[in-house]
Amino acid sequence: MLKDEISACRVCAERFAATHTRHAPRPVAWFAPGTPILIAGQAPGARVHESGKPFDDRSGDRLRDWMGVDRSTFYDLSKISFLPTALCFPGYDGRGSDLPPPPICYDTWHAQIIEHIGPPKVRLIIGTYAIKRHLGRTGALSEIIADWRSFPDGTFVLPHPSWRNTGWLKKHPTFVEEVLPVMRTAIRACL
Ligand code: SF4
Repeated sequence: MLKDEISACRVCAERFAATHTRHAPRPVAWFAPGTPILIAGQAPGARVHESGKPFDDRSGDRLRDWMGVDRSTFYDLSKISFLPTALCFPGYDGRGSDLPPPPICYDTWHAQIIEHIGPPKVRLIIGTYAIKRHLGRTGALSEIIADWRSFPDGTFVLPHPSWRNTGWLKKHPTFVEEVLPVMRTAIRACL
């Protein structure tokens, strides 16, 4: 079974052991066939590494607020699947900053997971790593989000919901004022 194979994955064991956090892989495989909503994010953080639940942190609180869903809906595997760019916490560097998601995870697992889930009705793509992988777009996030009407139907690009991005959100009101209302309506329609 795909989830069991992913849970047993240790491809990045040496890489993670060499980080400041010296942690072991703990893949967070939270997806199911036929979910109408797909959340494609970056990688689990330290807290999610402990809990094993995607976005089980303050960023998740903000994301649930943006989506207009409660925790029980958010973690309902008949409704929402998660596909982070890397399925494990990548660790911190010596300054305590998040390391980037290892590209080998995407190359190893993503095509299988996407096929397993099937086409979603609504796709939320969060942060620059996922945007590059899923839309092939690079460059300033503000410019990509300003272009939101050009994305395929049901696809929404989001900044990372980290509270560190509060200043960015204030400077770029397009996301909150224009994108969020349309995104919430699309989410409500398929729940
Ligand atoms: S990040 Fe991906 S490839 Fe690396 S150990 Fe975790 S599941 Fe495996």
